Amino acid sequence: MKEENHKKGIMGGTFDPIHNGHLMLAESALKQFELDDILFLPAGNPPHKQGRHDGADAEQRLAMVRLAISGHPHFILDDEEMHRHGLTYTRDTLLRLKAKEPDTEYYFIIGADSLMAFDTWYQPEDICKYCSLIVAGRDGADESILRQKTEKLRREFHASIFFLDAPKVNISSTSLRSLCREKRPIRDFVPDAVAGYIEEHGIYS
Ligand code: ATP
Ligand code: MG
Repeated sequence: MKEENHKKGIMGGTFDPIHNGHLMLAESALKQFELDDILFLPAGNPPHKQGRHDGADAEQRLAMVRLAISGHPHFILDDEEMHRHGLTYTRDTLLRLKAKEPDTEYYFIIGADSLMAFDTWYQPEDICKYCSLIVAGRDGADESILRQKTEKLRREFHASIFFLDAPKVNISSTSLRSLCREKRPIRDFVPDAVAGYIEEHGIYS
């Protein structure tokens, strides 16, 4: 009897900081698409986030992801991108994962804002060859424009795109960084261990 292929979700992000939105997205995708595991991939030096200077450093972002997912049996940290030099591209990451596990089906989990920018990513057609996309709604992303974009990506890149069936979560790392700067509490939006780490290290203040 042939064993079924493994199905893995990928949550890529700057995670500056990781927040409950990321975790809820991952949890919903795990259930809805019956994934075996979710890989959390903190970006090392993403091309679209050059010149940031109000954020945590790479080690701190990694530490926060570790704290946020520790104890979850199906959330796995993959910190390979962090240790690379130069810019990191999702396409190269997928090539690496596919080379390691050619039979695993990968599902890249992204928010609607990322889908809207997807065709500006490095070699989007390649990305679509190696994984499906799971898209979560996000405030600020217009439904009908999102549908049009989806159709265009399906046409141009043969993208396999699914939508996450979960309520929108109104949290962004950007808004958390500004709450911290204003010395306002963020405990409702991140795991306690992450809030503790941010306070202890005085990040974003
Ligand atoms: P920033 O404000 O710094 O861009 P962010 O909250 O968007 O941070 P990222 O690390 O950029 O977090 O996000 C990683 C991925 O998770 C992206 O694909 C993004 O669209 C998605 N994402 C993050 N937060 C949410 C959310 N609340 N709802 C849906 N998708 C989200
Ligand atoms: Mg973002």
